Formats: sequence, structure tokens, C-alpha cells
Amino acid sequence: MTNKLYLTDSYLNEIQAVVVRSSAREVILDRTIFYPGGGGQPSDTGRMIAGADAFRVVEVRKEGEEVVHLADHGTIAAGSVVKCQLDWGRRYAFMRYHSAIHLLDAVFMDLFKSEGLSSGSQIYEDRARVDFSAESISRSQIETLFDRANSLLKEDRIIRSYDLLQEEALKDGTLARTRPGKELIQKLKVVRIVEIEGLDRQADGGTHVSRTSEIGTLSFQKLESKGRNNKRVYFSIA
Ligand SMILES: [Zn+2]
Repeated sequence: MTNKLYLTDSYLNEIQAVVVRSSAREVILDRTIFYPGGGGQPSDTGRMIAGADAFRVVEVRKEGEEVVHLADHGTIAAGSVVKCQLDWGRRYAFMRYHSAIHLLDAVFMDLFKSEGLSSGSQIYEDRARVDFSAESISRSQIETLFDRANSLLKEDRIIRSYDLLQEEALKDGTLARTRPGKELIQKLKVVRIVEIEGLDRQADGGTHVSRTSEIGTLSFQKLESKGRNNKRVYFSIA
């Protein structure tokens, strides 16, 4: 089982780890800071340095309880000590967008009494999209949504994560309100919760910033209809 350090400290961007197993370009480490992707957040990229050899980490994925790193070339022998470095600018952008999505979702539910996030979200380095459960969203609703979210950001609330037992998580209806959240809780004996102080709690496996002031200012980009009860909102962060 890979020790997944990104779950407990999302700001760790350089560590040393030991290669547990490798084959061709695939490397499994005893511990990792590389996020394997999921919940709309892409997997991390970065570097592994073993002695005089530097390898690009081009893709990361989860296989059971292990995290598999795909290098751009060669094999790093089992037992090697490697220095791991994230492409931090890219990862930090994903953290800001991921926290922004949780905030927007909470504000959307609160303002429009909707169940919020529907089919999910997708994060890019320079924008993100969120699908909301709604038959229609008006221009003025969009303005209200972004104005409210941006004023909450300025309150600089703390964002933290912690583990809950599955039975506790199931008792709290708000945690399982989104489809991805519900699936996580049903699958796991211990569920990781990401909380924006006083605003939002969600079952979530992603990496987040630790204060809302780090997110920045949200700008609405465009709205698309993706079905009768699914409206897609694109936004960026400045
Ligand atoms: Zn999330």
C-alpha cells in the first residue's frame, strides 16, 4: 500500500521515497506526493530523480491501494531512493480550482435550494467547469452566485480534511448529496471529508488549499445546457 501523503498535506511538493516495485516505465513507491487523479482533478506531473538520472512523471493512476507513476523512459530499479518533485504551479492551480468548485457548489445549493453538483466537474490549469442540477439558470442567478462566492472568499475561511467512519458519514445526508460523494461513502469504510469552515462538507479525495483567500477571485466564463436538468458553468480564477 502506498502511503498517500497528498491526502494529509497537499502542500508537500518534494520528498524522498523508495521504489517498491517497477516494470518498464511504471514505478510504485513506498510513499508519494503525486495525486493519481479523480473527482474532476487531473493527475499530477513532475520529476523523479534517481542518482544522476532524471525521469519525467507523465501520468499517475491508482491501482487498488497503490499509486502507479508512469515515467517518460527507462526503469528505476526496486530499492532505489528517488527524489520526487511535483510540477507545483500546475498542482497548486488544481488545488485552487478544486476548492473553488466546492465553494461554488455550496453557494449554489444555498441560494437556489438545488441539490447542487450533478454529474460532476472538470478541472484544468486555467479554468474549470461544474455541472449543476438545474432546469435553467438565469443571467442574474449567475451574477448572484459569483458575487456571493467572491464575497465569501474574502472572509478567508479555513479548509481542512479529516477522516470519518462510513457509518458516521452515512448519517449525514449533506455529505452524500452529490453522486461522486455518495459513491465514495458507499465504497469506503473510512471516508475523507473536506470541509470549508462553516460553509461546506463533502466526501472527497482531492487536494485543496488551506484557506479560501488562496483561491483568488472567480470569474464566470460561460453557461451551457447539457440536458434538461444539467447546466454546465465554466469559470476561471484571477
Ligand atoms: Zn471535490
